[in-house]
Amino acid sequence: GLYLRNVVAGVDVKVPLADGQYVTAINFDNAATTPPFRAVMTEIMNYAPWYGSVHRGKGYKSVLTSKLYEAAREVVRRFVNASGHDVVIFTKNTTESINILAHVLAAAGCDQVVLSTQMEHLANDLPWRERFTTDYVAIDEYGRLSLPDLEAKLLKYQGRVKLVAVTGASNVTGYINPIYEIARLAHKYGAKIFVDGAQLVSHVPVDMKPVNSLEHIDYLAFSGHKMYAPFGAGALIGPRDAFENAAPVYKGGGAVGLVSSQSVQWDEPPARFEAGTPNMMGVLALATAIKTLLSLDMKAIAGYERKLIEYAIEGLATVPGLTLYSRRDKSEDRVSLISFTLEGLHHSVVADILAQEAGIASRSGLFCAHPYVEKLLNLSDEAVAYYQTHDDVLVPGLVRVSFGLYNDCREVDVLIDCLQRIAKKRDYYKTKYQQDGRGKRCA
Ligand code: PMP
Repeated sequence: GLYLRNVVAGVDVKVPLADGQYVTAINFDNAATTPPFRAVMTEIMNYAPWYGSVHRGKGYKSVLTSKLYEAAREVVRRFVNASGHDVVIFTKNTTESINILAHVLAAAGCDQVVLSTQMEHLANDLPWRERFTTDYVAIDEYGRLSLPDLEAKLLKYQGRVKLVAVTGASNVTGYINPIYEIARLAHKYGAKIFVDGAQLVSHVPVDMKPVNSLEHIDYLAFSGHKMYAPFGAGALIGPRDAFENAAPVYKGGGAVGLVSSQSVQWDEPPARFEAGTPNMMGVLALATAIKTLLSLDMKAIAGYERKLIEYAIEGLATVPGLTLYSRRDKSEDRVSLISFTLEGLHHSVVADILAQEAGIASRSGLFCAHPYVEKLLNLSDEAVAYYQTHDDVLVPGLVRVSFGLYNDCREVDVLIDCLQRIAKKRDYYKTKYQQDGRGKRCA
């Protein structure tokens, strides 16, 4: 298979364990953020001396910077095969992208319905809740999106659904949603589709303009820091005309045409939604990360990661008392992450032990997808209300391991070994690692 370990920075760093020994860090928290590609770091270092103001100056560096900034837009456009009518707006991250989109769509009227789903990250839920009548497409007993329920809800609102806002892949269960089928359904009932690509675009190829035009993706957003660029830059893509009728969220220089003391003329999108000096380094990093992903080949990445997650699921299934929160079937369409609980141990304790006994970075809690995890854990609204008002009580949650293209089966073996050890000496570990209230936070 692929051997990609050295394409990212930081794979060889040592971290201390509880006993003071140092081991090579294992990063299984890629769904939160990925380490940067070495190629991205090199590009940033090479560019730094040529840094200049975007779209403002006339100096050589400024002109070069502006060119690179606009070229990055084309890299993003090609990456997802956006159509000629689409604009690429650079944002801070997926969260900002969705907030801008919600603002823009609300400017055209809030009397319609936004259908989100029960498996969304809060970023693809709260911005809609605030502005629109929202409803949530149900999940089935395995936590997968129910397409019959999607169609039932589209029917129920009789043409009043403006947008179906759905995640491309879940950051909790890893399930990949059938976005083209969802697009077809949404379009059939006169709605548009927005895909939250935060967990999708670094794992599988995404095409906004597939052959069947009923299946096209209207809006898409993603974050550079989940695709091997550092923090700070993301993208929002969608049809130009949708962005032409809304005022910008952030107002100031760069977003305007001409302004008098009495009147304001907004610039055209995308500039209209990029007020202020943009994050050139972040945008360059994002574009370089995309080029690197493409050179490694998205299909090859998807194939490699699929083997890795199947290997991990097989291993996890051998750990006594471990419950997986997604189906074990190999046929399941998923990205390379999975969540679980270990009987008798709080999720934050399991994550602490993995870090301190094996140098493994994982994630624990509700992963900013609170309603989804609450559903997977069968927590009632009353139970959640109880946790909301009792600071001293530990909130249930899951442990998540998420793999990047540079992880390998040997690292997965370390994880399984460690979990086997924990499962065997549960009581010992329970007393050794104090439980605290950290699971409460949106981890
Ligand atoms: N959507 C999903 C599915 C995510 O996993 C995340 C990040 N955890 C986000 C949105 C938000 O991304 P960001 O924090 O980069 O805005």
